[in-house]
Amino acid sequence: MNTRNFYIQYHNADNLQSYPFLETDYKTSISDLFLDNSIRRDSWISTRKKQVEKAMNDFCFLIVGKTENTKNYYLWSFFRMDEWNFHERDAFYEVFGNGFCFNRPILLNKFDEFKNFKQFCGNFGIGFQCINKQPFLKKLQSFAKKEIHRHKITFPSFNESLPLLEKKDIEQKKSNSIIALLNERMQAVDTQERFTKLNQLLRKDKEIVHALKKVANYRCQFPNCNANIIMKNRENYVEVAHIKPVKEGGKSIIGNLLVLCPNHHKEFDYGYLEIKKQTKKTIAGILNGKNFSINLIN
Ligand SMILES: [Zn+2]
Repeated sequence: MNTRNFYIQYHNADNLQSYPFLETDYKTSISDLFLDNSIRRDSWISTRKKQVEKAMNDFCFLIVGKTENTKNYYLWSFFRMDEWNFHERDAFYEVFGNGFCFNRPILLNKFDEFKNFKQFCGNFGIGFQCINKQPFLKKLQSFAKKEIHRHKITFPSFNESLPLLEKKDIEQKKSNSIIALLNERMQAVDTQERFTKLNQLLRKDKEIVHALKKVANYRCQFPNCNANIIMKNRENYVEVAHIKPVKEGGKSIIGNLLVLCPNHHKEFDYGYLEIKKQTKKTIAGILNGKNFSINLIN
C-alpha cells in the first residue's frame, strides 16, 4: 500500500482580501457562499515554498482563515498536486492538480483537536506544510472522503496506488504544457466575461502572456526583426499582441497571440494589415506593404 503525504496550504482572506477561486467580494459572509465542487483540474495554490517540488502526487487541503465575529477557519478544497510551475518574476510556485472545492466551506474551529492542530501549524503562519503526524488530519480526510463518495467517481483515494509521474515528466515543466493548460482555460473566456470578471481574468491573461514570451525567448516573432531591448533582469523586452483585437472579441488564446517588439506591436495595431492566411500554426499576410509569415507557438 502506498502511503501518501498530506499537506495544508493556508489562505488568509483577511490579508489577501479575496477568496480562492472566487471573484465574490470577500466581505460576503463565508456562510453564504456556494463553491463549485465539481472535480476539476485547476491551478490550486500559489506558494513561495520550494517544498512543493517534492510534494507532487501528494494531497493538499486548502484552509481559509477569515475574521468574521472571531477568526474562523474553513476547509475550502482538496486536491492532488500533480504539477508545479515556478514564476520567476514573482518567485512563487503555482501548483496544478485534480481536486474539488467543498460545496459549502466547512468551519473547523468547532472540532476537537482543532486548537492543537492550529498550534501545530504555527497558527497557520507556515503556509504550506506537511500534516501527516497530526491527529486532526483524520478529520480533514473524513470530509474529503465524504465528498469523494458523493461524486461516485474514481478520485485518487488515499490508499490507492496511483501511477506516479515519471521523473522525466516531473522535470519536464516546460512552458508548453503550461501554455496548453492556460490555453484551455482561456477558451472559455469571452470578451463579455473579461469586462465583468476583470480582476480574475486579467490575471489569467497575464499568465499565458508571460508563458508565451518565455517560449518565444523574449524575441519579436516578426520575420527578421532584430529588436533588442534589454531589461534590468537581462530579459529582452517584448509584448504580446492580439491578432483579433480584444475589443472585437479576440481571445487570449493560441492562434490569436503574437509575441512582438513594441514597434511591430503598434504597427500591427495601427498599420495597414491584411491577413492572407491564419491557422493555428501560421499567420501570414501583408503589414504596411511588407509580406510576412509567422509560425505561431503551439
Ligand atoms: Zn519586431
